Amino acid sequence: MGRRVPAEFPAEPYNRDVKSAPFRGEKHVEVTDVPKAAVTKPTDALLKVTLGGVCGSDLHIYDGRIPGCEGWGMGHEFVGVVEEVGPEVRRFKKGDRVVSSFFVACGHCHYCVRGWFNQCVERGAFGYGEYFGALGGGQAEYVTVPLADTTLEHIPDGMSDEKAIFVGDILATGFFAAERAEIKPGDTVAVIGAGPVGLMAVMCAQLFGPARIFIVDMVDSRLEFAQGMGAIPVNAKEVNPVEFIRQATGGFGVDRSIECVGALTAVDTAIQCVKGGGTISMVGVPNHTIGDFPYVDAWQRALTFRVGWCNVQAYMRPLLDLVAAGRLQPESIISHRMKLDQAAEAYRIFDAREATKIVLTP
Ligand SMILES: [Zn+2]
Ligand SMILES: [Zn+2]
Repeated sequence: MGRRVPAEFPAEPYNRDVKSAPFRGEKHVEVTDVPKAAVTKPTDALLKVTLGGVCGSDLHIYDGRIPGCEGWGMGHEFVGVVEEVGPEVRRFKKGDRVVSSFFVACGHCHYCVRGWFNQCVERGAFGYGEYFGALGGGQAEYVTVPLADTTLEHIPDGMSDEKAIFVGDILATGFFAAERAEIKPGDTVAVIGAGPVGLMAVMCAQLFGPARIFIVDMVDSRLEFAQGMGAIPVNAKEVNPVEFIRQATGGFGVDRSIECVGALTAVDTAIQCVKGGGTISMVGVPNHTIGDFPYVDAWQRALTFRVGWCNVQAYMRPLLDLVAAGRLQPESIISHRMKLDQAAEAYRIFDAREATKIVLTP
């Protein structure tokens, strides 16, 4: 599958060197020449990447919190053109424009046949090194996509790479979060976190007809952006977000909350700001392995919790249709368009929250 990029790799046996952005250690990403990715299994596809994204979850690697990533290519949001397929790939052929899910799934195991691709027994994520599947990264000129038939989707004719790329990760996650929040027409909703996933959650929540959406963050520029999408900004640096939301909802709280950060304070806000009988949908990548569960409070208020990472493969096709129809404009959150060669700078400014969303062109 993916290949490790050695610190000093040999000059020979590779037929061609191409660019990739491997992780080199804490706060250190460096674009370097690596052996070109290749089809090595019958279910693989080789993609020539045309656009890659830098994702908030890449920062868990960048900050050195995930073991087993050093020397591995990064990036799990990408679109590209199929250059070659293995003999068992049925749905794709050379020249097809495709978007990839951020993780691979087999399509035929116990979980996949039940539609739970994110529980696939063969799952693995791109750009997470040995930690999660030992696959290559999409912040590169080429990437090998294993289990291509269940990992890729065709991009509709005429749709730009920028419109398509996010259905493989953040847009699907925003939709998954909003759908699982069980938003009914007229509901009030709070989205915790106005990063890329939070902004996608606001965009997708609107498809379900809520009366009002509050967005909680501490960065003004992100809150302003969310306000432009129709959300009510709540700056947690200036007000207590739970009190603010309760006051604005007649003392009750919102019907649904969507947690998009993964920090315990954000989870706590998501739980506290919903009214009795409410639903809390949590998709933020956890910063901690364990936190206190408010058992009595949850029992007394009859809360519903929906927790977990996105089941992307189930959403890519319908989301591409929604984007094609103009119902969603995920590309609107792109703040920086950079070259793959500038990956180190891209990570630096994204880590410093100077950029909302960065895409890289090889
Ligand atoms: Zn991601
Ligand atoms: Zn499977």
